[in-house]
Amino acid sequence: MFEKYKTAQKRFWHPMGPPTPGNNGDTLIITSSDGNYVTDVDNNRLLDGVGGLWNVNIGHNRVEVKAAINKQMDELAYYQMFDGIAHPRVYDLADKLIEMFQPEDMSRVLFSSGGSDAVETALKLSRQYWIAAGEPKRTKFISLRNAYHGVHMGGTSVGGNNVYHMNHGPLLAGCVQVDTPWLYRNPWDCEDPEQLTKHCIRQLEEQIQFHGPDSFAAFIAEPVQGAGGVIVPPDSYWPAVRELLNKYNILLIADEVVTGFGRSGCMLGSRGWGVVPDILCLAKGISAGYIPLGATVFNKRITDAIENSQDFSGMIMHGYTYSGHPTACAAALAVLDIVEKEDLPGNAKKVGAHLKEALLPLVEKFAHLGEVRGKGLMLALDLVVDKATREPVNPMDGYANRIAEAAKQNGVLVRPVGTKIILSPPLTLTIEEADKMAAALETAFSSVN
Ligand code: PMP
Repeated sequence: MFEKYKTAQKRFWHPMGPPTPGNNGDTLIITSSDGNYVTDVDNNRLLDGVGGLWNVNIGHNRVEVKAAINKQMDELAYYQMFDGIAHPRVYDLADKLIEMFQPEDMSRVLFSSGGSDAVETALKLSRQYWIAAGEPKRTKFISLRNAYHGVHMGGTSVGGNNVYHMNHGPLLAGCVQVDTPWLYRNPWDCEDPEQLTKHCIRQLEEQIQFHGPDSFAAFIAEPVQGAGGVIVPPDSYWPAVRELLNKYNILLIADEVVTGFGRSGCMLGSRGWGVVPDILCLAKGISAGYIPLGATVFNKRITDAIENSQDFSGMIMHGYTYSGHPTACAAALAVLDIVEKEDLPGNAKKVGAHLKEALLPLVEKFAHLGEVRGKGLMLALDLVVDKATREPVNPMDGYANRIAEAAKQNGVLVRPVGTKIILSPPLTLTIEEADKMAAALETAFSSVN
């Protein structure tokens, strides 16, 4: 740790956790990055098993993206898009996204600066859709326990983890939650995927009926829950959800902030199950960490109703200073070019399957590793006190942190989140690097009590 940062490290708050580090200064200070690796202040080169924060999908320090950013900075670093103003890169990126999402019949994009913005935009505009469509009483949202939808007030309210609620209530009214389709832990102790889908759909329908089918604007969920612990639903779950929502005429918002652009092994997480959402929330992988960017994409049903409205519901009274930021759009165009040319969804599928195979034997070997699960290059290791009861470790014991620290000593960064270790490396990960991650974790589990 550099002496010179001793004071500075108390001068800002770290997001999501203790505001400032303890006196031992165990902060990891990253100073540079390249490809799938980052280097810390002590010159340790670490394989980035976290991929920044599930977002550096194309790897670090790519010349193509830097060149696109520099070119755009030289031409036009920034101009606003309110007041009917535009610029070439926002047209290029909107074209690109709408082309990419033709299978979903998507027709318009509203840009923002990140995932929380993208979710907030989706929630607000879904309410606007119902005003435009002549059903203004449809204002409620239904979502999943355990879900993470960012930190704005709407996203917090539809989020399903209490720790994000406790300091910030009262939350938005009219948000209802149902259980997550999670085979490893669910209230029915159900271990059969088909049966679990049935339980979840029955509960969803009961809640819709109880709160009034005509009062719901939308159901929002992550195709694969990320921050909640990489929870992959049974194959039958998403098609059944779409069918039920159609029955009650409720919109489907897919929060693809993590799963968008390849992480789960398909270009969209929802495509992995052949399910078609009405609204997509995108961020992270769209610009892969090079510049902040968010996008909310709407299908034709929604945009037709809003654009054909003859009253105020035809106005878009929502947007940000940085909506369609030219440099962010230029970065995203270069990033998406790489995602497509290098078939990163395909690589995530292949290398993710290999990494999972390499990690699965560790479950037999180590008493406190209850489960390895995931899809593509989003994986979680579930830490338990007792495999038979599946009781999670006490997060205050710091076991996950000790495992992550030991993996770091072996040259690999992984992310401890309470009772889980999360793996979300760049989608450019190679088979050799996946083996290196698995080996570092095996050594970590062997050495930590
Ligand atoms: N939705 C999901 C599914 C996310 O995982 C995240 C961030 N991890 C967000 C929304 C919020 O994104 P941001 O942190 O960019 O605001």
